[in-house]
Amino acid sequence: MKTSINEFIAGLEQRTPGENEFHQAVEEVIGSVWDFYMQNPRYQKANILGRMVEPERIIMFRVPWVDDRGEVQVNRGYRVEFNSALGPYKGGLRFHASVTLSILKFLGFEQTFKNSLTTLPMGGGKGGSDFSPKGKSDGEIMRFCQSFMTELYRHIGPNVDVPAGDIGVGGREIGYLFGQYKRLKNEFTGVLTGKGLAWGGSLIRPEATGFGAVYFVQHMLKQLKMDIDGLTVGVSGFGNVAWGAITKLNELGGKVVTISGPDGYVYDANGIKGEKVDYLLELRASNNDIVEPYAREFGAEFVAGKRPWEVPVNVAMPCATENEVGLDDAKNLAKNGAYLLAEVSNMGCTTEAAEYLSENIVYAPGKAVNAGGVAVSGLEMSQNSMRISWPREEVDARLKVIMENIHETCVNYGKRSGNVNKTDYIKGANVGGFVKVADAMLAQGVV
Ligand code: NAP
Repeated sequence: MKTSINEFIAGLEQRTPGENEFHQAVEEVIGSVWDFYMQNPRYQKANILGRMVEPERIIMFRVPWVDDRGEVQVNRGYRVEFNSALGPYKGGLRFHASVTLSILKFLGFEQTFKNSLTTLPMGGGKGGSDFSPKGKSDGEIMRFCQSFMTELYRHIGPNVDVPAGDIGVGGREIGYLFGQYKRLKNEFTGVLTGKGLAWGGSLIRPEATGFGAVYFVQHMLKQLKMDIDGLTVGVSGFGNVAWGAITKLNELGGKVVTISGPDGYVYDANGIKGEKVDYLLELRASNNDIVEPYAREFGAEFVAGKRPWEVPVNVAMPCATENEVGLDDAKNLAKNGAYLLAEVSNMGCTTEAAEYLSENIVYAPGKAVNAGGVAVSGLEMSQNSMRISWPREEVDARLKVIMENIHETCVNYGKRSGNVNKTDYIKGANVGGFVKVADAMLAQGVV
């Protein structure tokens, strides 16, 4: 039986009430793969899309822990094992007060397509908790991570599900999680990625998402016959991903003029580089606010309560969180002459903003732009399995090739009927990611 796209979305909304972020992510994908799906009856017959929007498994659990005052706290833990057609579930853990099942479902759904785009053998998953490490002591974070893993360890494994970091989960949290897994299972395996270098981590992993995003931007610019050297770039956030992107942009001659936090942004016309980046890292390690102290220290402008997209830049790279670029921001960027927006955060743009940017300038979605992070996680898994570690140059070279291939996939599947010279990166990334997963699901039968 043939359904229309509207009936499909309405059915999903009815089955998953209130999961707004998940609906947004599904709509974005379905909108661009629908025609392709309709042209391929074998996918319809096997109800591939119907199965793709239903996670294979969701685990939800209580995470009790004791704070520094001796009081018992409780948070909620999740792991959404979305799709294992291409390999073990793979995707980060997010620790942030805003985490809900809907957010993790959107992230796990996106992750499935992203992992497919890398061409590495990884399925899609995502997990986390409504616990925020910000403002907590190291001891509190360790006790939380140990409690979280005390339940999660039953559901993951190097050939089953391999979590990594995301917002609020960096090297410190991965260390505590790994330590507890090792203690409970009595085995040293590559069950998490983003590990420390001395105990199974990969070189370049901390920088990979940001570096990969900049490599992707290089290819986007090449299509426009431009280069990063000499361009101004607006970045948001200042977390792990923003740091990697800023480092590589500076190396290639770009000038980064903004960073941001939940309370506002900094505009630094002289460029955020060198000792300024080191200072930001120190602030970040101290668990303190970053943006305002930076402005004070270096005499830059702090704009409270606003997003950085009102600043004229050539390239915009949102690196903080979902829906951080709305339609008005998108219009501002285009009006001020930006050539492109490369989304580094997951679903960094609202649907309207993404559509506007895609039509009026050039826009590429997070699942393509930020796939370098999970790609190097995949390389970390390979190194762990082989019990070797590749030198920095080798990992970086592989990352560059992967990002080039993802860009090529977007160009191949993202041809526009009206304007053959301009790539539709939304369609390119979604159809390119979809095909491999769909074919694997077909081959594996109704499971
Ligand atoms: P992170 O290290 O925790 O940094 C997040 C940054 O965003 C911080 O600067 C944070 O500021 C800021 N932020 C958080 N919520 C915000 C809000 N509501 N408004 C404005 N700023 C906000 O996380 P990350 O790993 O860099 O991840 C950033 C984005 O990249 C996320 O969308 C994530 O899903 C995506 N991503 C990450 C990876 C990875 O390898 N880590 C891979 C692919 C995609 P405060 O610290 O002051 O809260």
